Amino acid sequence: MSDRDTRHKQSMQKLKAHVDEKVAAATEQRGLLLVFTGNGKGKTTAAWGTVTRALGYGYRVGVIQFIKGQWECGERERLVEDPNLEVAIMGTGFTWETQNREADTAACREVWAEAERMLADPDVYLVVLDEITYMLKFGYLDIDTVRRAIENRPAEQSVIVTGRNAHRELLEMADTVTEMQEVRHAFNAGVQARRGIDY
Ligand code: ATP
Ligand code: MG
Repeated sequence: MSDRDTRHKQSMQKLKAHVDEKVAAATEQRGLLLVFTGNGKGKTTAAWGTVTRALGYGYRVGVIQFIKGQWECGERERLVEDPNLEVAIMGTGFTWETQNREADTAACREVWAEAERMLADPDVYLVVLDEITYMLKFGYLDIDTVRRAIENRPAEQSVIVTGRNAHRELLEMADTVTEMQEVRHAFNAGVQARRGIDY
């Protein structure tokens, strides 16, 4: 064996010991709270990816879309026929078009009721609260209500929260937080959002 091969083998042995130790230390089994935040692209895409993953094992999944701004959504088109998926979309507002606080609040509360129902249902394995961070930011929903519903969910249920500027309390509660960092975005170079890529 060459020196390089020997060094490689040694470093792989070390890595394996390290990974094995970590795997052995992770003994807890329970549902997770994940937050996908930050200004870069990929938050909602990652949430739908996880939805696909859960559906792949035959689990029940609920998705709440808190923003109607980007109405079309390829993943929803594809997955909506799965009887294990339930999607609730905010009815009227909220887009930056409505600019009507009262109507937006009412629309938000209505779809939040669906979220609360899913968050209380032990048969739902995964709940996605897509773009809910904006509802908190604009005061259409209050953090205590959201926190309580998430905290009291069934122990085996996981929740994904997406959106920029996630509330500090959500970040503190979360088991897994990923911040998508914008390095560059085509939109800023004048390229239109692309069907099948951006929505
Ligand atoms: P995606 O839905 O593509 O995963 P996202 O959920 O991370 O994106 P949002 O902030 O929800 O991002 O933005 C929704 C839309 O805006 C998507 O079409 C997305 O591709 C686009 N977008 C995401 N990040 C940026 C950005 N930094 N600048 C401009 N447009 C963006
Ligand atoms: Mg998004």
